[in-house]
Amino acid sequence: MARVDTATRAAARITRVRSRVLDLPLPADFRPAWGRGEVQRSFFVTLVEIETEDGITGVTAAEAGPEAAVAIERFVTPHLVGQDAAAPERLIGVLRDAEVLGSPVYFVEVALWDIVGKLAGMPVYRLWGAATERVRAYCATGEVRTAEHRVEDCRRIAADGFRAVKLRFHSDDPREDIKVVEAVRRELGDRLAILVDANQAGVLPGMGGHRQWSFQTAVNVARELERLGVVWLEEPLSRHDYAGLRRLRDRLGTMQLAGGENNHGIHEFALLVEKGCYDVLQPDAVLSEGVYQIKKIAALAEAAGLVVAPHTWTHGIGLLANLHLVASIPNTSLFEFPHEPPGWPASALSQMLVEKPWIDQDGCLAPPQRPGFGFELDEELVERYTVARFG
Ligand SMILES: [Mg+2]
Repeated sequence: MARVDTATRAAARITRVRSRVLDLPLPADFRPAWGRGEVQRSFFVTLVEIETEDGITGVTAAEAGPEAAVAIERFVTPHLVGQDAAAPERLIGVLRDAEVLGSPVYFVEVALWDIVGKLAGMPVYRLWGAATERVRAYCATGEVRTAEHRVEDCRRIAADGFRAVKLRFHSDDPREDIKVVEAVRRELGDRLAILVDANQAGVLPGMGGHRQWSFQTAVNVARELERLGVVWLEEPLSRHDYAGLRRLRDRLGTMQLAGGENNHGIHEFALLVEKGCYDVLQPDAVLSEGVYQIKKIAALAEAAGLVVAPHTWTHGIGLLANLHLVASIPNTSLFEFPHEPPGWPASALSQMLVEKPWIDQDGCLAPPQRPGFGFELDEELVERYTVARFG
């Protein structure tokens, strides 16, 4: 077989990697279900741009503050400058090694594929096979609210055109949360499919104490939710309790188990598939592994009869990276669309983008048709909220 001389084809040689740390405001107080006692008024995003010799720039972002920018500057930039950006498979090792040394930087792979798409003149999902042109979205809520409040929310969510909603469980007594599901089911019937996120897989330190569910609590809650026709239960147990997840899954009938947003690396997802932990894997293209590496995870899932429905609650660029990813695979289901007014509406998640993603009349999302991941930054807003620069 003829050897291809890749050195002569490095058209997209990387010349610079620069990061801007943004502190983006939220329009109202937000009380995340996953951070007990926390009141959030803004969120950190680190925007990373990879510049190339021929003038193409790839863009990505981390759901992280200066720690991500420092990790990139120390552990990634020295190994990227001078390399061919259009060869992400040769550079993924740098991103994997960086996680051993500092803050995870898997989101950087998005910028490389953004460059590949721009060079090819194609949206990334088409470059990767375009399994579909749009995906059905569900409205992901983020707070624990009363049954009365949530029924009102769900009426609005259904009127907006969503066909599915995800509710959060984080009351001290999960029976309180089950009452919310009962109320929504009673008042809205089958207008909205219901998903439930228990957020038990990752323990946040210092958030007023997180009390993880026992196996028995997970079983009791799961049985009730199955009775109520819930589509999936997300993260009922620790992210490494492979045996417990499998035992729980074996006890369920029609309801699916979902999880994986807090797992890292292709090998850990291979383990989740092998151990039979979940029906729905939820890697995130800017958190869990490189975006193209997750496409490989999707292939493992496909062979095992599982689906991939990424976590997307990071920022607008992360949402779009995940959208291109799922539009390129055959085995996906519902797509997470974070939208929890007034604290965290979809417009806040995507505030740094000129065009903010929103569902069509069928409750579906379509990836942008421009080359790469297809977004354009609102430079004026980005500059206004930049608090630090690196590179
Ligand atoms: Mg989740």
